[in-house]
Amino acid sequence: MVSTGCFAANVGGCGGRLSLEHSLSFSLLREMGDELEVSGFPWLPAGTTKRVAARSLGSKVLCETHNRHLANLDSAAATFFRCLRACIRHDGRGSVGTVQGELVEQWMLKCLLGFDAARHVVVEGQRRTFALATQFDLLSKLFDGHRWTDGRGLYSASKSQSPISTSNSLSFGPLWDTTLDRCSGCVLSFSGIPFILQIGDPEYHDWHLANWHYRPDFVEFDHGGVKSGVNIQWAEPTGMGIVIRTVEDRQTPPH
Ligand SMILES: [Zn+2]
Repeated sequence: MVSTGCFAANVGGCGGRLSLEHSLSFSLLREMGDELEVSGFPWLPAGTTKRVAARSLGSKVLCETHNRHLANLDSAAATFFRCLRACIRHDGRGSVGTVQGELVEQWMLKCLLGFDAARHVVVEGQRRTFALATQFDLLSKLFDGHRWTDGRGLYSASKSQSPISTSNSLSFGPLWDTTLDRCSGCVLSFSGIPFILQIGDPEYHDWHLANWHYRPDFVEFDHGGVKSGVNIQWAEPTGMGIVIRTVEDRQTPPH
């Protein structure tokens, strides 16, 4: 049986039923525990966060065949965030792991397309869809790993002092370009560490990318001189990285 309602239908090859897909990857959510703190969902008032069960975030937006095809992105993301969490919790020194950057970009794109298809996108209090899955260049990036070389891709902040939380917090949402009335990407914050995936032409978006690093080669944590970090490999290394001098949230002990 061929599914209808799969957001990847435009690339062809749908198969099986619609599978229960977690917009932020079940493997990642499982990493973070049974419950997590989320924000930006349509059922939440703007600017508020809520603790929810990870299983409640599922939606049926991909067929089984396409879901299987993208499983490697979920495992890459789970590795990335597991390594970041190990650094935040001081569970290691030096390099605690390596992840392929293009896979993280593809995973964030999958999350954004899933959010859009599930109508989880809220702009100024209104649910809306950007119909992102009709843009063939986005599907080509997602399924074929098409390399972006024009400033689109992953960015991270270069703040020297970031409030890093040891609790499981995750927020995710679209970036809405008010001038062009289009989605220009998405922003994800993992325990206070922000990442942007820029999918639109960045020349229009300098305002939100100022002070952000494009495709950092590493994310390093400095806990009072004790350093640990995650390496991010790119087809074309940038030679730049992010250094985060942690300020611990002492309200929430590591667990
Ligand atoms: Zn499909």
